[in-house]
Amino acid sequence: MMKWIKDELYKRETSSLYRSLPSPMIQNLKVIASSNNYLGLAKDKRVINAAKETILKYGTGSSGSRLTTGNFAIHEQLEKELANFKGTESCLLYSSGYLANLGVITTLSNHETIVFSDEYNHASIIDACRLSQAKIIVYKHNNMVDLESKMEKYKNHSKKLIVTDGVFSMDGDLAPLNKLSFLKEKHNALLIVDDAHGTGVIGSSGRGTSEYFSTTPDVIIGTLSKALGSEGGFVCSNNIIINYLIQKSRPFIFQTSLSPGNIGAALKSLHIIQTEKRHVILREKANDLRQFLRKNNYSVPNGVTPIIPIIFGKATMALELQKQLYNDGIFIPAIRPPTVPENTSRLRCTLMSTHSNNDLNLIKEAFQSVAIL
Ligand SMILES: *Cc1c(COP(=O)(O)O)cnc(C)c1O
Repeated sequence: MMKWIKDELYKRETSSLYRSLPSPMIQNLKVIASSNNYLGLAKDKRVINAAKETILKYGTGSSGSRLTTGNFAIHEQLEKELANFKGTESCLLYSSGYLANLGVITTLSNHETIVFSDEYNHASIIDACRLSQAKIIVYKHNNMVDLESKMEKYKNHSKKLIVTDGVFSMDGDLAPLNKLSFLKEKHNALLIVDDAHGTGVIGSSGRGTSEYFSTTPDVIIGTLSKALGSEGGFVCSNNIIINYLIQKSRPFIFQTSLSPGNIGAALKSLHIIQTEKRHVILREKANDLRQFLRKNNYSVPNGVTPIIPIIFGKATMALELQKQLYNDGIFIPAIRPPTVPENTSRLRCTLMSTHSNNDLNLIKEAFQSVAIL
């Protein structure tokens, strides 16, 4: 009965697509430049203590869905503070960013809906689109001419969504929210932005890509698991859309609400983000490393995020460099097709505001000393 599974596995093992879990030993390396814990808050003593206190007060599990026994004052408080942070009327928590995308896109669409989706959108958006009954139109990455010509063809449809990442996770570039807002107004669509990598990081006070572009999309999706150092997802929007999700969104209705520890941690992180300028320190470190790598003739695109892709093209070269850096005690993963397009294999470096000057010097020295084949 297991034969077909074994056969499939063997096929994978003998191809370059085989995945295995990285050794937990990487946690002991000198420098990890690959974490989503952008502001170091997942290990901040104050955040850890806040999680402990909420666990002591409310317990380890919330033991029910929000619509039954799992609605605590801290859930509502975090929603209020997130809405405030993003400048929207309302907010709704989900168990993860992944499920927030599933919940929003499947609920805000039906068989009459056209969803326009950037070709580089996160897997959770792609899965949400597949699960929805909508017609999916993929447009070229950040290409507004392509998007507009595709929207033009569906001029007479009344239900349209544009869905995009705010920060694209493999290239660290931003979606042009100003232009997308213009197009969505012109074509009477709703704009949904997944700001998983932007929240706490981008914009003058770290509120995300909407702050960077001074525009508020109809729906902003986020995660508590990156800069906020916790776990969980959220949706910020107007009262009508949030109410609609409460009525109809299955990943919201049928899931146990977020556990108290996660909420306590996220609340504390949100306060720290708004009082300390960690995102500014992070931006300076990322700019500095970008400039250094470019001076040393590495191919690094311009950017304003802590995601720094170092492009090599050939997968073998990216893998070899990953190995050499690893031997120097540094973890920066190689990313290959199909995760990224052919001939754009890369090392994907992400910095944290808590990387020390010594950490950064170790990274720089390693890049200077590696032998590029
Ligand atoms: C990480 C990520 C998610 C998933 O968030 P989780 O809370 O980890 O489920 C969704 N969208 C984007 C763009 C992400 O980078």
